[in-house]
Amino acid sequence: MKLIFEKSSPGRAAVDLNEFDVEVEKSIPNNYLRENLNLPELAEIDVIRHYSELSRRNFGVDFGFYPLGSCTMKYNPKINEDVAKLSGFADVHPLAPEETQQGSLQLLFEIEKYLSEITGMHSYTLQPAAGAHGELTSVMIIKKYFKSINEARKIILIPDSAHGTNPASAAHCGFETLEVKSDKKGNVDIKELKKIISKDVAALMLTYPNTLGLFDQNIEQIAKILHDNGSLLYIDGANMNAMLGVVRPGDLGADVIQLNLHKSFSTPHGCGGPGSGPVGVCGKLKKFLPDPRIKFENNNYSLDCSNKDSIGKVHCFFGNFGVIVKAYTYIRGLGAKGLKDAGENAVLNANYLRVKLMDEFDLPYKRTCAHEFVLSDKDMPNHVTTADIAKRLLDYGIHAPTIYFPLIVHGAIMIEPTETESIQTMDRFITVMKKIKKEAEDNPDRVRKAPHNLFVKRLDAVKAARKIDVKWER
Ligand SMILES: *Cc1c(COP(=O)(O)O)cnc(C)c1O
Repeated sequence: MKLIFEKSSPGRAAVDLNEFDVEVEKSIPNNYLRENLNLPELAEIDVIRHYSELSRRNFGVDFGFYPLGSCTMKYNPKINEDVAKLSGFADVHPLAPEETQQGSLQLLFEIEKYLSEITGMHSYTLQPAAGAHGELTSVMIIKKYFKSINEARKIILIPDSAHGTNPASAAHCGFETLEVKSDKKGNVDIKELKKIISKDVAALMLTYPNTLGLFDQNIEQIAKILHDNGSLLYIDGANMNAMLGVVRPGDLGADVIQLNLHKSFSTPHGCGGPGSGPVGVCGKLKKFLPDPRIKFENNNYSLDCSNKDSIGKVHCFFGNFGVIVKAYTYIRGLGAKGLKDAGENAVLNANYLRVKLMDEFDLPYKRTCAHEFVLSDKDMPNHVTTADIAKRLLDYGIHAPTIYFPLIVHGAIMIEPTETESIQTMDRFITVMKKIKKEAEDNPDRVRKAPHNLFVKRLDAVKAARKIDVKWER
């Protein structure tokens, strides 16, 4: 496929502008003049065809099954987009006077309350732009809290089943990280935790459910060990999908939590698109939340920057407002009962797949799972690997699961179907997985050389990452 620059034809354009009938200011620097910019020149139809063709070569949840573990690629209802596009939301300027933004401020105020209720936390900030940004914000709050009580704790504990961004966020904020091992059941090893906890430990960052797709069965004990030590429990709640309407992290003892609106609350994500990672805190940490807070007094919404203990701003204005509008629409659309159904069905679907696949594929942790589960390639014939399975799935129009993560499972295949998939879609996935296993036995090379039906065949993964080539011929 040609690059858009190669399709350019001098003088071709999508619009005809009238000649200026006013004097044009000649102050644009030369190198910004259109004729010096080397922009592609195309008609509207060329542009539409170019980008439509590119989108056909991509894969999204609107194209097919996308069981990408730890990412919750659920279907994003299109009504979310309709609401976010309303002119009163989409065209509002963030610097417009508060009295002209009452509707937007009300929406932000209300979703903070909804998230508090859903998760059992005291207060929320909506500023962080993604999950990892929410983690960083949380760790900044934890740091400020200990500073405020004159304790210089410098360690954050991270279980080996945590999401990879957790240690990065802690380190980025100047903490040392210490790993806590999991036990045989996939829980935090309590004996180990008791051994390494000390007055230097500020917090433990618990991905919950963890990256094995398992709820830690001892979470209340973990919270108690931390709290008795004056430490805080941080919950990475990116996987809130597994708990919606059923379990509230705040009730389990979480002091800080981050959510991923772009996962659990159905706003499109991937490819670095905008996300939203709100952070919820317990009462004693509220005063450290980023500025400004939204206040509701005398029937009027306003912005409050008067809090001297705040960690400051972590994003301009209110975060990614459009994403928040979509999540708000999703929550209001489903209501309390609908959210609970979503959570329960996410867990039911994952367990359906787990049980149907565990006879033929190795399941390292044999427990009821949360919204996802992890297989391995241990039982594959002829040393066919996880990567081979992932590539072969693409030939069937199925996105690959998350692979080789978490690191504590060799050859991990992490599968998350989400609640929006039907039993027919899941049954097809089961059939395809079993077919691939059979093929690995009868014709292993066919699996090893997959994909066969895509625009791009099997790439040299290392070379592809080092020598990026975005231009290829069919
Ligand atoms: C996705 C995810 C993150 C990171 O979220 P981003 O929005 O990609 O920054 C953190 N923790 C867990 C458990 C996740 O699944």
